[in-house]
Amino acid sequence: MNPIRIKDKQFAVSIPEADILKEVDRVAAEINRDLAGKNPLFLSVLNGSFMFTADLMKRIAIPCEVSFVKLASYQGVTSTGKVKEVIGINEDLTDRTIVIVEDIVDTGQTMQRLLETLGTRRPREIHIATLLLKPDKLKVDLDIEYVAMRIPNDFIVGYGLDYDGLGRNYKDIYTVVND
Ligand code: 5GP
Ligand code: MG
Repeated sequence: MNPIRIKDKQFAVSIPEADILKEVDRVAAEINRDLAGKNPLFLSVLNGSFMFTADLMKRIAIPCEVSFVKLASYQGVTSTGKVKEVIGINEDLTDRTIVIVEDIVDTGQTMQRLLETLGTRRPREIHIATLLLKPDKLKVDLDIEYVAMRIPNDFIVGYGLDYDGLGRNYKDIYTVVND
């Protein structure tokens, strides 16, 4: 497959679109089966999950809602440095069935932060759907019910994921080529 260059790095296709969509089909079928009758609210975490969210939602056949949140990173004044704030939750989450839609879970810290924040809004239940999981990097104890694909620790781009803002538009997933 055609290698691509983004800034200083070379990438090669590692997961073609057809393989991605096969797994998105499977995850959507699981959600349709598990969450029927619960009117789930899908909360898509921008920017990285926009493409996954679009393909997933096209396959969700049960009544549901979808909304978008963003994690704003800013330099905190505490010793921990970076603080991530969740912005864009305009819905009342009380008693709702929530499905967080993420592009990738790496260490799991971002997901943990999201769960903490959403948990304060009294939802009935929170489920996690992620396009990608790097199991060897996971440091946090998370119950991730819906995983489209498990991948090794290498850096990837495409299908919504970026390298320095670039590469989100590719329909396939690319892995960095070691040089
Ligand atoms: P975590 O908090 O789980 O360690 O990190 C999750 C975030 O790290 C993702 O939302 C994504 O922004 C970034 N990330 C982790 N691995 C990759 C990768 O291989 N490629 C890209 N583009 N982003 C990644
Ligand atoms: Mg993400």
